Amino acid sequence: MYIKALVLDNFKSFGRKTKIPFYEDFTVITGPNGSGKSNIIDAVLFALGLARTRGIRAEKLTDLIYNPGHDDGDNSGGPREATVEVILDNSDETLTRSQVVNAAGSEDVGDVDEIRIRRRVKETEDNYYSYYYLNDRSVNLSDIQDLLAQAGVTPEGYNVVMQGDVTEIINMTPHARREIIDEIAGVAEFDAKKEDAFEE
Ligand code: ATP
Ligand code: MG
Repeated sequence: MYIKALVLDNFKSFGRKTKIPFYEDFTVITGPNGSGKSNIIDAVLFALGLARTRGIRAEKLTDLIYNPGHDDGDNSGGPREATVEVILDNSDETLTRSQVVNAAGSEDVGDVDEIRIRRRVKETEDNYYSYYYLNDRSVNLSDIQDLLAQAGVTPEGYNVVMQGDVTEIINMTPHARREIIDEIAGVAEFDAKKEDAFEE
């Protein structure tokens, strides 16, 4: 399974609906400073519900909505709504149809060769709302997280390596670095269970 495309609509600097295709093996995004490269990564974190743990660069969710006056601190004008859709190629059946149906709570998920996870944030006068969709079915964040976890994508995982993470790993103590390796290898889970058992 891999990200096939990303559709940004009114998200951060993407004031127009923009579809960004990704290659299966390796995709590099280049461009001048401030052109929106990191915003694309923020979009993935936002849509997949990984934002809180993996350090999305926004204080409030509503900062993610495209704002024409962003650099002047002007917050007026424009619709206050942003949408990001992550289109996953699942033609290798990393996730089975029944796993997708289960998460969506509906048989009506179309062809699961393609899994589309969409998130929308909408600001009203005095509040904001956040919505998740799985292949156009309305779902909760936990449905998305449970589904992604079955494909090995978790908020605590290392599928996303943020700017600064590498330096942090280099500067860690050997013991802390070992903990990361245990986490990736899936050993950490057993260590935690072992500790629980000792406590009992
Ligand atoms: P660098 O090479 O410096 O890392 P980058 O390509 O990663 O740059 P980003 O950080 O993705 O650039 O984009 C920064 C730009 O996004 C800034 O110009 C900022 O004004 C704009 N931006 C951020 N949030 C919004 C928003 N809500 N509405 C409009 N523009 C925004
Ligand atoms: Mg950047």
